Amino acid sequence: METISGLDAEALNRARISRDPRFDGKFYIAVTSTGIYCRPICPSRYAKRANVRFFASAAAAEAAGFRPCRHAGVAGHGGGGTPRLASDQRGRAR
Ligand SMILES: [Zn+2]
Repeated sequence: METISGLDAEALNRARISRDPRFDGKFYIAVTSTGIYCRPICPSRYAKRANVRFFASAAAAEAAGFRPCRHAGVAGHGGGGTPRLASDQRGRAR
């Protein structure tokens, strides 16, 4: 079993289940049954361990044929995205 960011499969799975924010960005979780990948802190329901694959980057997950989860866009998924926050406040200038 390969390691990702120095984590083996057991450590990755523990981080997945605990949604530990310290691991956000260190690896990505892909679910083979849905074809979706997401961040460790994703609020989606847990997938079965047997259906889970781990990737070191969002690009690697996409290269393997997975699509980003719906929550991903909200959280700036994909590694290069910039959260859109400022534009929402401009309408309230007065
Ligand atoms: Zn997600």
